[in-house]
Amino acid sequence: MICPKCENEYANNVEICPICLQELISEDAFELLFLRKTNWVVVYITSEIIQATMIKDILENEGINAIILNEQSSSFPIPGDLSIIKIKVREEDSDNAMKLIDQMINE
Ligand SMILES: [Zn+2]
Repeated sequence: MICPKCENEYANNVEICPICLQELISEDAFELLFLRKTNWVVVYITSEIIQATMIKDILENEGINAIILNEQSSSFPIPGDLSIIKIKVREEDSDNAMKLIDQMINE
């Protein structure tokens, strides 16, 4: 169980954080909350899922959480089923992520 305020972890039988007097939430619930309150920024856009997956792997090897968003570009005036794949990382990781992506692209 985790306190959503001070982010301390407690044993399962504890229900209230003794520091903040906040009701504790499960680790899963905390992770969802954390994802929602974190600013995710786009660091790369591609139309190839293979490239997107490669970049995600490289970032995660460096300990950077990355998410892939696949958006079908139906509103684009381009024929065919071109898709736009965005790679997002947390704002604080974006500088490092962009450096890593640059290195990868230049290799
Ligand atoms: Zn607390």
